[in-house]
Amino acid sequence: MKKLLALLLTMGMIASLAACGSGSAPASSGQEPQKEETPAAEAEAEETEAVQEDAAAAATQPAAAQTAAAIDKIVFGTNAEFPPFEFVSSTGGAIGEFDGIDMAIAKKMGEDLGAEVSINNIEFDSLLIALQNGQIDAVIAGMTVTEERKQSVDFTTPYYTATQVMITKEDSDIQKATDMEGKTIAVIQGYTGEISVKKLGYEYESFKKGTDAILELINGKADVVVIDSATAQKYITDNPGLKIVEDPDQFESEEYAIAVKKGNTQLLDALNAEIEKMLADNYIAELGDQYAVSE
Ligand code: GLN
Repeated sequence: MKKLLALLLTMGMIASLAACGSGSAPASSGQEPQKEETPAAEAEAEETEAVQEDAAAAATQPAAAQTAAAIDKIVFGTNAEFPPFEFVSSTGGAIGEFDGIDMAIAKKMGEDLGAEVSINNIEFDSLLIALQNGQIDAVIAGMTVTEERKQSVDFTTPYYTATQVMITKEDSDIQKATDMEGKTIAVIQGYTGEISVKKLGYEYESFKKGTDAILELINGKADVVVIDSATAQKYITDNPGLKIVEDPDQFESEEYAIAVKKGNTQLLDALNAEIEKMLADNYIAELGDQYAVSE
């Protein structure tokens, strides 16, 4: 699975390199299926492109940024399996059935920017690929900024700080990360928790969803689940008999940010302005309280 992820990331990187190589002609590359263009609009775009062909700036900016005056629609990709940041609510959420801190942030961004916002719920480790092939415009998924991810996408200003923690049964003897040696460790595929355990050099099993890993722990098939702090808090509240074990020496702090396609400065700048505003007026902290995050 790790290999598959690496392969997909590499493929994505090649795709973005190819996009760079084609210079200012993304209109014909089929990279933006979510944007339906009429033949007239297409002709107009080509014309604009031709006019700017000799401008040095044209090579560094995507055509969309040159022609679109305002952002009228944002398709956010997420994986709604990460409470309290994103989850499906049977009673209705911030955006359709999707609720959580990230969903409330996305909703507010849409309102402030006057853009229609929609959510595309896909597997976590497919999000960056979906971004690169134009299926979505941005990823809002409690996603940690990492050097590796930065190679294939651009990140906004971080909006939340987290860390990895261990979830064990209440009677577990695991007190620090190195106590996991020889234990059955469960992680979620493609999460930074997987990267942390890999770095420690331990064997692990990876699951598609946090709830699957937690079930494994409850059933005694796993000894420990490594996952992000706020999500862990949610799981132990919902499942009596489990506890959180922290080890700040081994698990560094992580920052969540929104990812956009490389070079999409128009969207990046707009989202950054929104995040800065929401941090300054404590909106994100309020959402933390509302969705009961204790750090
Ligand atoms: N913060 C973790 C990561 O980026 C997990 C995110 C998530 O599951 N949505 O890998």
